[in-house]
Amino acid sequence: MAVFGRTSYGTLFELLRMYPETTRTELVQMSGLSKATISEAVSRLMEVGLIAETGKRQPNRGRSQVVLALQPAMRQVIGAQFTGDGCFAVLADLRAGPIAWAKRDHLGQSPEGFVEALVACVEELRAQASAPVLGIGIGVPGLVDGSGREVILSVTYGWEHVPICDMLEQRLGMRVTATNRSKAAALGEFWQGNHTGRTDNLAYINIGAGISAGFVNQGKLFTGSGGSAGEIGHTTVLPDGPTCACGNRGCLHVMASERALLQTVRNRVRGDPNAVLGDELPLNALGTLTMEKLHAAADEGDATVLEAINETGTWVGLALANMINLINPSLVVLGGSIPAFGQPFLTGVREEVRRRALWDALHGMDIVLSSLGETAGTLGSAALFLDTLNVETILA
Ligand SMILES: [Zn+2]
Repeated sequence: MAVFGRTSYGTLFELLRMYPETTRTELVQMSGLSKATISEAVSRLMEVGLIAETGKRQPNRGRSQVVLALQPAMRQVIGAQFTGDGCFAVLADLRAGPIAWAKRDHLGQSPEGFVEALVACVEELRAQASAPVLGIGIGVPGLVDGSGREVILSVTYGWEHVPICDMLEQRLGMRVTATNRSKAAALGEFWQGNHTGRTDNLAYINIGAGISAGFVNQGKLFTGSGGSAGEIGHTTVLPDGPTCACGNRGCLHVMASERALLQTVRNRVRGDPNAVLGDELPLNALGTLTMEKLHAAADEGDATVLEAINETGTWVGLALANMINLINPSLVVLGGSIPAFGQPFLTGVREEVRRRALWDALHGMDIVLSSLGETAGTLGSAALFLDTLNVETILA
């Protein structure tokens, strides 16, 4: 059926996801497709229950038009991200809305160990699905090739050239697509984040053990020509600063990642014999300082820790100001273990951005903390798979 050619259907499905309540006239206007094409496509989608007529609308006193509503739960997808511990997955609807969750620990750091965890999650979620499950999107900590098939490099896991989608498709008999999990999280924030501001150009930055970004423009992930767009952790913020694993010096990664924050706190305490750290952070425990201890100390209002968090925010703000000048986002969302410190971090970021970014780029833009937490990458992986859908897969 020519009317369901990849392009026309792709456009139509994107519009229905973006505007879940619409009319045939609006679809004609937004898609640029003919009335006859839209009419036929809508009929076909109604036949399979993906669209329902839910009422009437009378715009500008003109002829009343039938409201078409996407029925997002009539087809389902699975989103999953690989974490430090294993796999965290969701069964989601056609707008990446969560239906059920599953978690499994990995069986070892090898790709096979993570594949087993994902397979177990998928089996659990498939059993709960109330509609056909179309496929799986996954987010991994590492660089994924432009076609979304292979993990080129994951420093976190020590993986190189892992054909993760082939491995999973063989086990599950379902289509799989992959991306970096921060990029997936950007999609998660776009579709499911709880923000009031504009999200047409959204940037998401994950700041934790590593630092990387994802960009979503009009609902679409921007990955760059080879899939590596968003490596903000390896932009220079201090020329001749400490050496980074990437070979460069003074990367944001060595100034503001978890490891850098822990080091900053250690240095501040050692340099200040009068530092009052409270019971959570006794001087003799500095060698075993953890993020959990820092969070506890911050909650207690420990001044040394709060200052170090603010300083980390300043480094992130410096890199963000450059990024904001370059890509002019409407919303910047900060997620990961360091933004989880909340206001002391956010204040440092915002002040530095205000100091350095151009007024034009700042106008109407907001920087917020993630409302989704660790679910962003999982929900975004579901959204990632939804972006690959075409008529053949969705009506099959
Ligand atoms: Zn670097």
